[in-house]
Amino acid sequence: MTVPVSPIRAGLLMRCPACGKDKLFAKYLKVHEQCTVCGAKLGTGDSGDAPMVFIILILGFAVVGGALVVEVKYTPPLWLHALLWVPATLLGSLALMPLLKSLFYALTYRFDAREQVSVGEGDPGRDAAGRSP
Ligand SMILES: [Zn+2]
Repeated sequence: MTVPVSPIRAGLLMRCPACGKDKLFAKYLKVHEQCTVCGAKLGTGDSGDAPMVFIILILGFAVVGGALVVEVKYTPPLWLHALLWVPATLLGSLALMPLLKSLFYALTYRFDAREQVSVGEGDPGRDAAGRSP
């Protein structure tokens, strides 16, 4: 019996959500089609829009909070605010994107989350609660 890999750990380390050993990404945000260690098919998963929402929330809090603190303590000119916070936002977004995509990818992989389909549109074998007979 194999011990399941923690999706949080695999996600934060950007590793395969099935075995936790191989790297998840082939390129910056391109997921490997298949894990070279365990053979799990990785290319079919999707993290959805959740990473972007959390990037907006985390960076919005950090950048706006930082700008407020700097403004109250030092009262710098506006060009200095722009010089500080525009690159911080861009670099922060680029740094957080693979990390959060990997985390949500691992969570959707682990809990087998899929896109929900309305009754009558997709799977005819499911009832109104989404259960199959
Ligand atoms: Zn693997």
